[in-house]
Amino acid sequence: MPDHAIPDRPPSSVDRTPAAVGEARHVVIVGAGFGGLACAQALAGSEVRVTVVDRRNHHLFQPLLYQVATAALSPADIASPIRSILSRAANIDVVMGEVRAMDHAERRVLLADGGHIPYDTLVLATGSVYNYFGHDEWARHAPGLKSIRDARRLRARLLRSFEEAESCAVSGRRSALLTTVIVGGGPTGVEMAGAVAELARFTLRRDFRRIDSHEARIILVEAGPRLLAALSPESSDYAATSLHRLGVEVRLGAKVTDVSEGAVTIDGAQVEAATLIWAAGIRALEPASLGFDVDRAGRIEVADDLSVPGLADVFALGDAASFRQDDGPLPALAQVARQQGTHLGQALLAGTTRPFRYVSRGDTAVIGRHAAVFETGRWRLRGRFAWFLWALVHIYLLIGFEKRLQVGLKWLWRYATFERGARLIDEEEPATRSGLGHSLPDGEQRGRRLGTARESMDGD
Ligand SMILES: Cc1cc2nc3c(=O)[nH]c(=O)nc-3n(C[C@H](O)[C@H](O)[C@H](O)COP(=O)(O)OP(=O)(O)OC[C@H]3O[C@@H](n4cnc5c(N)ncnc54)[C@H](O)[C@@H]3O)c2cc1C
Repeated sequence: MPDHAIPDRPPSSVDRTPAAVGEARHVVIVGAGFGGLACAQALAGSEVRVTVVDRRNHHLFQPLLYQVATAALSPADIASPIRSILSRAANIDVVMGEVRAMDHAERRVLLADGGHIPYDTLVLATGSVYNYFGHDEWARHAPGLKSIRDARRLRARLLRSFEEAESCAVSGRRSALLTTVIVGGGPTGVEMAGAVAELARFTLRRDFRRIDSHEARIILVEAGPRLLAALSPESSDYAATSLHRLGVEVRLGAKVTDVSEGAVTIDGAQVEAATLIWAAGIRALEPASLGFDVDRAGRIEVADDLSVPGLADVFALGDAASFRQDDGPLPALAQVARQQGTHLGQALLAGTTRPFRYVSRGDTAVIGRHAAVFETGRWRLRGRFAWFLWALVHIYLLIGFEKRLQVGLKWLWRYATFERGARLIDEEEPATRSGLGHSLPDGEQRGRRLGTARESMDGD
């Protein structure tokens, strides 16, 4: 075979199941996010044979992704190899692979590389993607935050815009470079807006000579009447006031009607912005929704024991599942996914399923330094103490002592110094850099710059 020859893909009959251990029941868990991992951990060390399949080799702590995107943490701080998390459980095998389809008649999942894995019980915990509400073409210009790659690209885009603004003499273009628009006023949007504002106001003020950090414009757009709609109106008001204080423009009841390269149309008016971030709504990932009854967001409808009606021994949980409790479907939250994973794992261990009930341990969102909301039962905390609790809870939820220590120390350091150490532009540099296009007309130069940034982001 010549050196450059690509070997044949494995034939579709390849069985990727790790070596069988006796006749033990085989549980296949697709997705090692919060839900899938909790389910696997509940089955660890048991007689049940478990295979965890994930297309990534790492478990990702998504709630802190925005901190990677705003240079407060490094990717490795919030990701842990799935194999090492599960290495002590001899009954669990890990397969890195992407599930493309399911063959329920033959009881097997089909992988993108042509292999398949047979199952006795199937658990779908494949998470979600952002919902562009029928405008998937907007994803290219206003990416969401779902993976380390997304966070690194966003960080590069933000930092590169600041770099270009530093050497840009044309005020209209400079203000577009310094404008960030975030769509969606839920916890992710609020946290992101606060973090970008702090990055622009405090950190850049020290290190850049020509940018006036007050020129940085951060706009948070929410279609509903208030931010953080899942929390109390008092917390929504507090979040809006805290963001105003940081200089964020909060637009409530505002509608995004178009998104293009470097521009967004809000309530009919176009705003030029080098950085657009999507944080509005989710829908289930494709394979999870193939052939299942799904809700409006494409999430698989499940029964009260998390089973998929009409399919024996198939379960879904976390963001991929639509689980109704009391008034409506449960929100897409890490704690929902974890509780469901643990519940299902224990039920599979006991050999009998039982109804699941979600118990909220509290809802929280951080807005900035000393500003956070934390609601649990009748307790509604806001401000410094809520911020402290938020930090403690997130450190506790990270996997592994080393990560907890690392993140705890980084936060302490940042708290004391305002420093954001992970300010790396580690994406390929665009061909047009500041200076190169100075002789071009303003519009053309801007188009080229933003266009090149887009190519570089897409090509990673
Ligand atoms: C930016 C951001 C901030 C958030 N902040 C908070 C917060 O503050 N508090 C909170 O409670 N929740 C928060 N969430 C929501 C929370 O992260 C999710 O609800 C939670 O991750 C859902 O867990 P899951 O196990 O269902 O899916 P995920 O954690 O998304 O895991 C899904 C896994 O499935 C794998 N996978 C997907 N498709 C396939 C396939 N076809 N084949 C193989 N593997 C596949 C993925 O690689 C992934 O590892 C946030 C989410 C985001 C994106």
